Order: sequence, then structure tokens, then C-alpha cells
Amino acid sequence: MAKTAYTKTELKKFEQNILDKIDEVNKSIEGVRSSTRPTNSVFLEDRSEDFNEGTEAHEVEKNFLLMSRESDYLINLKKALQRIKDGTYGICEISQKSPEKCESPDCPLISKERLMEVPNATKGVFCKEKKKLNLL
Ligand SMILES: [Zn+2]
Repeated sequence: MAKTAYTKTELKKFEQNILDKIDEVNKSIEGVRSSTRPTNSVFLEDRSEDFNEGTEAHEVEKNFLLMSRESDYLINLKKALQRIKDGTYGICEISQKSPEKCESPDCPLISKERLMEVPNATKGVFCKEKKKLNLL
């Protein structure tokens, strides 16, 4: 019989991986925040006169975009943690809806390698591509 869910031990490992990633993202968000905070830079005040305001605004905007992308990622990682609790983590979304369409080699499971690399993945890689191409 094919495996339809990851074992508790495996889930524990995935959970740790997700927690590590969350930690990483949090640190990187902190980094962006402190670099955007003008009071944090002693150089900024001296340079402010010849500082092109457009560039500065652009920087802030870029950091903001980066931060919102990172927080999206955070939200998805937290959802992944929830899926671990629910016991649905690592199960391809496509196979949950229409198992006959799932192309994950370990269907319905998303491969371990992919989950370690993309812990917030909800679909196997082939399913994700097909979904993108509107084939599902
Ligand atoms: Zn699938």
C-alpha cells in the first residue's frame, strides 16, 4: 500500500526545518528594518544633503516590497506548521481534490527533498507546474 502521509518522526523533522526557516526570515526582516531606520545610520545625516530623495524613496519602497514578500513567506510557513498539526502536511493539494490528476512521483505525498527545500509547498512540483499552465 502506498504511503498516504508522513510519519510522526518525519513530520517532526519537517517542523524543525520550518521553524529554522521562520527564524531565518525573521532575522532577515529585522536586518531590513534596521537598515531602513534612518536613526540607525550615522552616515545618513551627513549625506542627507546630496542624498537624492528619489533614490531614498526607491530604497524604502524596495525594502518594503522585500519585507512584504518575506512576510507572505512567513504566513505560508506558519500555515505549513498548522498543516503539520492537522496531519495534512506534505500531501499534494491536487491529490486531495482529484487524486487521478496528481503527478507527484510519491503521490499523494510531495517528495521529502522538495519539502526540505520549499517547506511551504502545497503541491508536488509537476502538479504545481501544471496548475500554473492551467492544465489542472
Ligand atoms: Zn500532486
